[in-house]
Amino acid sequence: MILGLAANRLHHHTEDAALFAWLRACEAGIRELQLGLHAVGRTHDAIVAAGMLQGYRPLVRYPYGRDGGLMKVVAEVVGMGEGRTLDGAIYLTDPVDPSSIFPEALALKRQCVIHGKPFLSTVASARDWIEMERIHAGLAPDPQADRFHDHGNQTLALIAHDACKQAMLDFADRNFDVLSQFRHRLATGTTGQRLNALAWSKGWPEGQPWVQRFNSGPLGGDAQIADLVLERRCHRAVFFEDPHVARQHEADIQLLERAVTTATHDAVCVTVPSVAQRWCDAVRLRAAR
Ligand code: PGA
Repeated sequence: MILGLAANRLHHHTEDAALFAWLRACEAGIRELQLGLHAVGRTHDAIVAAGMLQGYRPLVRYPYGRDGGLMKVVAEVVGMGEGRTLDGAIYLTDPVDPSSIFPEALALKRQCVIHGKPFLSTVASARDWIEMERIHAGLAPDPQADRFHDHGNQTLALIAHDACKQAMLDFADRNFDVLSQFRHRLATGTTGQRLNALAWSKGWPEGQPWVQRFNSGPLGGDAQIADLVLERRCHRAVFFEDPHVARQHEADIQLLERAVTTATHDAVCVTVPSVAQRWCDAVRLRAAR
């Protein structure tokens, strides 16, 4: 497996920055998985300067952003043949860094979604993903990752754009046990309505909503959920985005994604159905170990 790796300046600028927090928590897991990392120039150089991942050959340096490093990572998410096809990308985002909204940064996210690959924009998402892959590889649970499985104390947000609503219903149907572990579930209006109908059809107590519904997306539901993320009252978002249509509430969608990256150590965001399914499978496997 190979991931692209980039971090905005804030996230590799100081010793306690997000990139190093992720590496401190995950270096052992990265080595266990022999995870390839195609890291853009400055991010790569910061890892080396910090003395992390020493002697780790699967860490490969890509050009600086201004020389097209991130653009090459996008092409590799799409696929550039043997050894140059990525399985996803980590892009530790600082929402107020202008480069986080450069076209190549937006394209990176979009091509991950289009190709069904993980786009990991927060430390929490990247940590959770490593533990998920460790579990699928048959490794013993890492106690440091227990907090990502403490679902009984956490809130989950479920959002799906219109073209993805059926995928969300199928996902919730197949994983009702895992999703029901959460203390609390939230959704945007229409997604929530459909999910509650599904839950009641599966025997969830009539009259008791399975998810708390906020406004519909176009009427500000994303912004309402973003507020809970910023308050650290929503810990995980499963957000099935439709990358193929222009969306009237694009700004609201970006707002929610930026809120998630503001809570980088705390908020996990999953944007594609296959990755969400892989997460639920790992939850069951991990609980059984
Ligand atoms: P909805 O909102 O669940 O109300 O359809 C989702 C969205 O379109 O953002």
